[in-house]
Amino acid sequence: MANLVDDVAATAAEHPDATAVGYRGATWSYEEFWGETGRLAKALDDHGVDADGRVALYLPNLPQYVTGFHATLRAGGVVVPMNPQYKAREIGHLLADSGATVVITLAALAPMVAEVQDETDVEHVVAVGAEDADALHDIATPYAEFLASADGELDVVDRADDDLACQPYTSGTTGTPKGVMLTHHNLAWNARATGDLMPGGFEADDKMLGVLPLFHIYGMTVTMLGTLFAGAAYYPMPEWDAQAAADLVASEDLTIVHGVPAMYNDLVNQPNAEEFDLSSVRFANSGGSSLPIEVMRRFEELYDVDLFEGYGLTETSPVTHANRPDARRPGSIGRPIPGVESMVVDGNFDEVPPVERGPVEEGTDLDDVTGELVVSGPNVMKGYYGLPEANEGAFTEREGTRWFHTGDVAYRDEDDFYYVVDREKHMIVTGGYNVYPREVEELLFEHEAIADAAVVGIPDERRGETVKAFVVPVPDADVTPDEIREYCLTNLAEYKHPREVAFVEELPRTTTGKVQKFELRGSSE
Ligand code: AMP
Repeated sequence: MANLVDDVAATAAEHPDATAVGYRGATWSYEEFWGETGRLAKALDDHGVDADGRVALYLPNLPQYVTGFHATLRAGGVVVPMNPQYKAREIGHLLADSGATVVITLAALAPMVAEVQDETDVEHVVAVGAEDADALHDIATPYAEFLASADGELDVVDRADDDLACQPYTSGTTGTPKGVMLTHHNLAWNARATGDLMPGGFEADDKMLGVLPLFHIYGMTVTMLGTLFAGAAYYPMPEWDAQAAADLVASEDLTIVHGVPAMYNDLVNQPNAEEFDLSSVRFANSGGSSLPIEVMRRFEELYDVDLFEGYGLTETSPVTHANRPDARRPGSIGRPIPGVESMVVDGNFDEVPPVERGPVEEGTDLDDVTGELVVSGPNVMKGYYGLPEANEGAFTEREGTRWFHTGDVAYRDEDDFYYVVDREKHMIVTGGYNVYPREVEELLFEHEAIADAAVVGIPDERRGETVKAFVVPVPDADVTPDEIREYCLTNLAEYKHPREVAFVEELPRTTTGKVQKFELRGSSE
């Protein structure tokens, strides 16, 4: 029996004066943070949250997210993270599906909860910042008042390893979001495993940039939980802004940075990118989507900081593969992390043989060397909540091992480095040929006039689908769509080149940096 917050409790007892959370110049020591967590846990318990009770966190990255998260677990409950950009209709589904009875949110978002509350089991809405808004008192209890209602601290409620700790919903860039059941062991194991991977270890004097959204598994496990497990300090940032992130790193001497590729791309494309001082950073990490090699090179050149790519999914808590200082290849997601098993399989679930050494040469027929990436390990979810059919498709049992289907197309080399070629569903079939958008996107990123790019398949009468590139040119770029088309034609097999190139101001992305390809295709899949 163990609750994943036991580790944080131990740190708080051992280093009460060390900083746990820093925000806008203020800091919370471990003693203060853990004390507030205990009172909030008591208030939640008084309001009916006990073992398995669901608490939705509908908040941007703020210190109260961190206390809300730990207090829920401390009370034995299950956290339901919700993207603060979601509107009433979207949260309505998540709240109803998860059965959340308490929502912790922002004053500005509380009316959104009120709008859908009748269709859900929500009984209490707690709002950060509602203290000053009398009008809100009918629909929400101010956070400070809720906290003050507790007459002491709640002890940590024991949980079994396979009890649920958190139920995030998969990003929902396509289809209806599914609740992912993650246990105490799933999360604790992955937070520790990724901490162990950090170059030089994850130390108590480390300071983490907390800009990855906490509602997403990458921000939650790797940046927030990992930091507090290590007894280090977490610096939340409610939203991405390249200049503000660079300023925070410099002013607080942050030592570890995690981001999605879109953030690194944005950073290196700032007009004053060369002026940012990231000298306090020991290393940086990227995950969530493929890191264009060109973006990695430019980041490392500009700041003299190593940028390591990793890979994972919500369903795997998240990290399954990572590059490390002693084992790293650009363009690769790295090797499986210790404790995770990984295979590339064909449609019959037979293993696809590895290539000699990745990345494969241009011109290799990717269909010959790739298959679906499947993984197994202590970080793999229990299953999707209330969706037996989805669970059936997500897993394959073989000789006692339960393999999870990632839905990503990948190949492996003989040194056990893995290369993700694309999402299975992003593959374009044009005139009988398969095109993996990522290959074309990598080439586009190499063009000096291109700041951002995404490639999709669009319907075509003759070819079934045809390749289309959406390109964000750098400011004042002297280039035409036709020139980009020519450039691709010179560097790629004819069938892969984008027959259509559209210049756009920006790409539609999720908060976690994934391009919403269905929007580019103009469909609502
Ligand atoms: P999510 O559940 O939102 O974390 O999304 C998981 C998906 O993100 C994976 O199935 C991949 O398609 C994608 N992804 C995450 N990391 C990488 C990476 N390093 N390279 C390519 N795709 C990635």
